[in-house]
Amino acid sequence: MTSPKVLVVEDEPGFIDALQIGLTREGFIVHVATDGVTALEMFESVQPDVILLDVMLPKASGIDVCRQIRMRSSVPIIMVTAKGGEIDTVVGLEVGADDYVTKPYRIRELVARMRAVMRRKPSERSVDLSSEAIEVGPVVLNPVEHLVTLRGEPVAMPLKEFELLHLLLANAGRVLPRDLLIDRVWGNDYVGDTKTLDVHIKRLRSKLESDPGTPQMIVTIRGLGYKFERSTS
Ligand code: CA
Repeated sequence: MTSPKVLVVEDEPGFIDALQIGLTREGFIVHVATDGVTALEMFESVQPDVILLDVMLPKASGIDVCRQIRMRSSVPIIMVTAKGGEIDTVVGLEVGADDYVTKPYRIRELVARMRAVMRRKPSERSVDLSSEAIEVGPVVLNPVEHLVTLRGEPVAMPLKEFELLHLLLANAGRVLPRDLLIDRVWGNDYVGDTKTLDVHIKRLRSKLESDPGTPQMIVTIRGLGYKFERSTS
């Protein structure tokens, strides 16, 4: 197996040095971008297997970089936020980051997170749902092609949103408890922020619902969880 490529987007020399040494030792090929614009260029040229993305960057913020990359790729992205940066974290997840770590972090913890998000890549993760395409109302999800369409139009979908939608569609008409959704989509990787599930649901609604504020497809069952309505228009 070839060594995974990581794109480290970081502007603080101390962190760059530590990451270069630590991640190389862990078997990664490390590429470093020190500002947001370079990060986007290097994303194209390097084609990394995973991205470590600092939020506070010169030229373009990590949030902007994440948003732009998500328009064309579902590469795993781990956002790096400053201590106390809860807002950055929520926004980061909203624009498509798969996970986040808070500075200061331990290399060992970071590597565990990186391996976890990389394992969730479609080609490598264990698939326990059927690989049959599912159609519910105007939404079609094709697990084999990792494709979601809404009324025939493709909808960009990062991995965890895709997995969450897959579970909801496969169980359309059934209430899925929060704990079950968290366990099946994030498992032990869930970082304890109870907002993560809600943020992902919100993102799905904004992509699929005609009025995300009053959802007709993905409905909240208060105190229990979420349900994908069987009959939608
Ligand atoms: Ca920074």
